[in-house]
Amino acid sequence: MMNAAYVYLQIYRLFDYVTPVRADCGRLCGKACCKGDDSGMLLFPGEEEVFKLLNPDGIRVEKTQLQYEFEGKKHTVSLAVCGGACDRFQRPLACRIFPLTPYLSKDGKVEIIVDPRGKGICPMAKAMLLEDFDGTFVRNIRRAFTLLMKNARFRAFMKMYSDYLDEFGRFYD
Ligand code: SF4
Ligand code: SF4
Repeated sequence: MMNAAYVYLQIYRLFDYVTPVRADCGRLCGKACCKGDDSGMLLFPGEEEVFKLLNPDGIRVEKTQLQYEFEGKKHTVSLAVCGGACDRFQRPLACRIFPLTPYLSKDGKVEIIVDPRGKGICPMAKAMLLEDFDGTFVRNIRRAFTLLMKNARFRAFMKMYSDYLDEFGRFYD
């Protein structure tokens, strides 16, 4: 992805001060989403370039088992692993949009949904519908992923990622 770091750094700004709800939700649950035994947050295609550039304290990038195919080549999805604390201005996109996530509907459109992986961790993901989240937050996620979806590699990733989310969704239907 050309200038991937630049694109993500612009997108990050949409979430520097915009959060899922007006209140600090972390005060209710003790920041459960940062404290799990879960190994980290997935990085979107090309987003690892940001971490090469910033090299923030306490976040390291690893490879996962998840792969998607683009232009005849397999691409491996990276993961940001943290120790449960970070500089909020250097968080990955997945942390900024949690507990929402993009999802490719069957007709190939990107939708914003409550992340099925969040339902076991996050009280908001368990109890809230999309319309209960802050409108600016949801709108900014939509803006971010509408932009990212213009990239063919990102679209290839989204197909795999949406199948992956379906696997989790099954446990919570
Ligand atoms: S687990 Fe949910 S409610 Fe708790 S800090 Fe994370 S997003 Fe907020
Ligand atoms: S990178 Fe930061 S926001 Fe994301 S899970 Fe780790 S501590 Fe939480």
